[in-house]
Amino acid sequence: MPDAPEGFLDYAPAPESTSLLSLKEQYGLFINGDFVEGSGSPFATISPATEKTITHVTEASEGDVDAAVQAARGAFDTTWSRMSGSERGKYLFRIARLIQERARELAVAETLDNGKPIKESRDVDVPLAAAWFFYYAGWADKLEYAGAGPQVRPLGVAAQVIPWNFPLLMLAWKIAPALAAGNTVVIKPAETTPLSALLFAEILQQADLPPGVVNIITGAGTTGRFLVEHPDVNKVAFTGSTAVGREIARAVAGTDKKLTLELGGKAANIVFDDAPLEQAIEGIVDGIFFNQGHVCCAGSRLLVQENIEEEVVSRLKERLSTLRLGDPLDKNTDIGAVNSAAQLERIRTLSQAGEEEGAERWSAPCTIPDQGFWWAPTVFTGVETSHRIAREEIFGPVLSVMSFRTPAEAIAKANNTPYGLSAGIWSDKGSKVLAVADKLHAGVIWSNTYNRFDPASPFGGYKESGYGREGGRHGLLAYLSTATTRKGRTR
Ligand code: NAP
Ligand code: MG
Repeated sequence: MPDAPEGFLDYAPAPESTSLLSLKEQYGLFINGDFVEGSGSPFATISPATEKTITHVTEASEGDVDAAVQAARGAFDTTWSRMSGSERGKYLFRIARLIQERARELAVAETLDNGKPIKESRDVDVPLAAAWFFYYAGWADKLEYAGAGPQVRPLGVAAQVIPWNFPLLMLAWKIAPALAAGNTVVIKPAETTPLSALLFAEILQQADLPPGVVNIITGAGTTGRFLVEHPDVNKVAFTGSTAVGREIARAVAGTDKKLTLELGGKAANIVFDDAPLEQAIEGIVDGIFFNQGHVCCAGSRLLVQENIEEEVVSRLKERLSTLRLGDPLDKNTDIGAVNSAAQLERIRTLSQAGEEEGAERWSAPCTIPDQGFWWAPTVFTGVETSHRIAREEIFGPVLSVMSFRTPAEAIAKANNTPYGLSAGIWSDKGSKVLAVADKLHAGVIWSNTYNRFDPASPFGGYKESGYGREGGRHGLLAYLSTATTRKGRTR
């Protein structure tokens, strides 16, 4: 971050204490209600801000995955699918309250393991994770009213694989609707961010959740593959990259498994010349620099009306120059660490491609710490639709700015992408917002705001951003079968 200008006071360090987090030196796999050693090898999870080891976790082998699926099958057959909805709901409420009780500890763990600023894990990730369990707790005894169809039933064992950008929140998005609908779960967090899932396993023990209802297995891509390819799972729910999503779709094709895919994005954030500019600047910043841009629905393509482009870009650079990059545990930090060396390399490669292809690069003046993985907030102007930085998901704090003259041109440029997850529209005129939104091919469209999430609101994409919806009533449907959908199925 830049030094404070003369006459201004600088911020004093305000680090969140890590003393409330007591970690084991080694974590096993959470199978059938207990932590077990597993047969795979241990690996370290590190803090991307310091590169120091936080703790060690276990890589689940094929045999471990099988044990977890068997535990989930047993719990499905004997307990969970037979329990009344209102009883299941009580467990979900209990889990939600325990997340609230252990909120500070979970926020610190998430920030340590992922590198995201503590103010984000504290104010966004953890409260939303609790909200997801509260919301789906309310559905557990009302499944017949979800609009799925006649005689709703759970699917069985759900195999869930999640990414590293919102580890606890993505876990909540996956587990809460699955359990509310009466399914049991085996979930694999990402290799670089297993910590909050392991603390969540402790919460399940505190909540007295019957053994086997949720099983948490750590590991990398191979463990994920064993899980989604296991013959005894009934449902696969995946959030991650489009490339891996494709592999999973291929692996599941021709089986009886139900599949939902939440994949990548390259969202357009469209700013019209009648937009409230102060708010729009904040929305642009929130859209792409929240969580270091590691957000699938990030507003990574800024489409700004030509007559205000200069003013927007200059105000944006001014605002970005005030962002504070550094220790993610500091309560004043705006931009934390990039999650891994591999992700940093991808951001570097694509940013270099941007320069080589002729776009103009500007980065906020930041002091980059010596240790860890960091990328200063970066803005590319003069971007053309053919540039890689306009087409490929960077998944980092890098914004590509393009301009347009008419609403029709904005719509054409916004839709010129293989993805279709989200979009933003900034304008003073409600009628214009609605008319433009109607023509955008995106699952979620925000108007005069960005990156707002609510458990009651469905989320998901079109085209290469995947299929199926999470959140809301729609999120339940992905975990239920009905008399109609069961016809002709073996289970
Ligand atoms: P990724 O490489 O696809 O990994 C996602 C998860 O899949 C991780 O747990 C990963 O394990 C696992 N995995 C890798 N290969 C697998 C395979 N062959 N079979 C089964 N599982 C496998 O994606 P990422 O880099 O972690 O996450 C970034 C991507 O996720 C971005 O493209 C982003 O847009 C997308 N995303 C989408 C949403 C959404 O809701 N649409 C939300 C968040 C992120 P390891 O990581 O342990 O190797
Ligand atoms: Mg980590």
